[in-house]
Amino acid sequence: MNTSTPALLSVRGLGMRFGGLQAVADLDLDVHAGEILGVIGPNGAGKSTTFNMIAGALPPSTGEVVFDGRSMAGVPTHGFAPRGIVRTFQHNKAFDSLSVRENVMVGMHTRMPATLWQVLAGTTAARAAEDQAQRRADELVAFVGLGEWRDAEVATLSFGQGRLLEIARGLAAQPRLMLFDEPAAGLTPAECERLGGIIRGIAAQGIAVLLIEHDMRFLMALADRVVVLNFGRKIAEGTPESVQADRAVVAAYLGDVGGLAHA
Ligand code: ADP
Ligand code: MG
Repeated sequence: MNTSTPALLSVRGLGMRFGGLQAVADLDLDVHAGEILGVIGPNGAGKSTTFNMIAGALPPSTGEVVFDGRSMAGVPTHGFAPRGIVRTFQHNKAFDSLSVRENVMVGMHTRMPATLWQVLAGTTAARAAEDQAQRRADELVAFVGLGEWRDAEVATLSFGQGRLLEIARGLAAQPRLMLFDEPAAGLTPAECERLGGIIRGIAAQGIAVLLIEHDMRFLMALADRVVVLNFGRKIAEGTPESVQADRAVVAAYLGDVGGLAHA
């Protein structure tokens, strides 16, 4: 990670108003290639709203999301993956009746224009492309630790395995930025540990990672930098150590059951 180079993702003055409620206000944040940025905050702090604005699922009321020097304003959600931004979902969106490998191969096609597939269909080039896609899918399946389940129907996977498949599918689109929405939610401690290793491995490939997380312990062990939200505003930013020592952060969490001290 090199934070002296321009950020890959820059969020400037981001805000969201729901009627009379300012859910997110004047938020700035940066994520660099190879960096893991964590966003935390008590319930209702504006984490999900922030995530949805960055992922293109919710048009901001104010401010902008700039990716690789270009504003994402007006880009439809299906335009995100081809530009290099991939998100994971809390609830898996896999095709249940397909195998693990097939699901990852579906994820690759977001990178190839439909017309190219049509031109290639039935040709030797198509078969070569398909073989290459299969090899790449197998690499990704192994990377997330699902090698043994490569040919298994997705319907037979556990909840935690489904989360890993979701990550492999996201990687198939060759993202430059991956957005994780509470990836540790619902996982066992052993699965969390494995997930942490996978996310570190993703950043080590130079991919920027933005992670919204409620699980404080998981996030603090993983993030290079942490942004803390409270009532829609950034109240602290820095290394996990500096943020945990910040008085405003401790105060924000005092009223939150399962906050800093107990998470
Ligand atoms: P977090 O994910 O940190 O718990 P959210 O981003 O979900 O926080 O919510 C921030 C605030 O915005 C909360 O007060 C929540 O009730 C409100 N909110 C979120 N989504 C909506 C919506 N679609 N309509 C109205 N209020 C919303
Ligand atoms: Mg939320």
